[in-house]
Amino acid sequence: MAEPLLIKGCRIVGSSQGTCLSDILCQDGVVTAIGQGLSGEGGALLEARGLIAAPGLVDMHTHLRDPGQTQKEDIGSACAAAAAGGVTSLLAMPNTEPCADEPSVLRYVAEKSRPTGLHVYPAAAATLGRRGKELCDFMLLACGGAAAFSDDGSPIESAGMMLAAMKAAKRVGRPLISHCEELTLAAGGIVNEGDVSRALGVGGIPAAAEEVMAARDLALARAYGLPVHIAHISTAGTAALVRAFKRLGAPVSCETCPHYFSLDESLALSRDADYRMNPPLRTKADVGAIIEALKDGTIDCIVTDHAPHTAAQKADFETAPNGVIGLETSLAAGITFLVRPGHLTLAQLIEKMSASPARLLGIPAGSLRPGAAADIVLFDPDEKWLVEPERLHSRSKNTPFKGMTLYGRVKCTVASGRVVFNTLI
Ligand SMILES: [Zn+2]
Ligand SMILES: [Zn+2]
Repeated sequence: MAEPLLIKGCRIVGSSQGTCLSDILCQDGVVTAIGQGLSGEGGALLEARGLIAAPGLVDMHTHLRDPGQTQKEDIGSACAAAAAGGVTSLLAMPNTEPCADEPSVLRYVAEKSRPTGLHVYPAAAATLGRRGKELCDFMLLACGGAAAFSDDGSPIESAGMMLAAMKAAKRVGRPLISHCEELTLAAGGIVNEGDVSRALGVGGIPAAAEEVMAARDLALARAYGLPVHIAHISTAGTAALVRAFKRLGAPVSCETCPHYFSLDESLALSRDADYRMNPPLRTKADVGAIIEALKDGTIDCIVTDHAPHTAAQKADFETAPNGVIGLETSLAAGITFLVRPGHLTLAQLIEKMSASPARLLGIPAGSLRPGAAADIVLFDPDEKWLVEPERLHSRSKNTPFKGMTLYGRVKCTVASGRVVFNTLI
């Protein structure tokens, strides 16, 4: 029996418009009571002093880099970053070294993450080595702990192979996550194709590289009644496609990342590789369309696509690998760019960052009520803070929000009733 944890005086997101203060009692990893004047004898006490309490965030798109690239990040440093960002559950993408296309890699991730106290769900590759040629054994991997399947980092180039993967994922009851990129269109590109790629004199990645692949997968989902989840959507065209196929009844869902609703391609003019990721930052019009798609429910969830790279790897603008970190800035970016301008309510933002991805993954997370897992984030939505990369917990510092002042600061994170991050005094 773990000792109880009592959180005193918080405002629960989405309830009674947060006007009244509540206490939350946690015992043995579960929320046992929410109300006023609760007591938790003999247990730990957290004085929340009016902070917002929300269900721990669920990031269904994280690159842990472990096994194989621990100079960039390892499971311990990624989970420290997650806890500092209010994330208590995360889906670990399989493009590690070795690739998570066999159960031993899934086991390694599950075992190494256990001491962190966070809920780390490994995703398995859909094809062997993520090469797109031969389907993995979905049943073996699902039994071995795969919470989802994806070749993320690479698209599945063949439509026939994609269809086979969608069928296999449905058979084992796990989501299939599609990284949409038509490689012959994206070839050689490092930023969005258009004014910025021309000004920089570098190759561009056209919006169509994402959209033609998304259109293919959405059409397969509709034609065969097979679910697919489109990863990291970044363009107005992809948002319109997902909206249209949802209206047609296709069993599809999608996600975007904070950088696609807040930043645009003009940042790349600085020739700083921390503004390079795949898909790339797009135009201001795309940013507006992503926000609209978040507002009208076309985009189901917000994920980080946390992709650490060392400073040395990011030093050269043109040859640096794609990707940015995001676990410690996602909530603040959502508050700053979606809630404060009035695009989403705080409760809607939290839904897209917890309940919605939890539902898609079928995991016990994303709610804050008696009987739910005691995964809780306490934050001050009004506190301003400067993003200083060297102060972040991730081993890599490649954040595109560096030097920006964001609103919304995580103060304490609880996972399974245990405090995993705490700056409360
Ligand atoms: Zn991807
Ligand atoms: Zn990714």
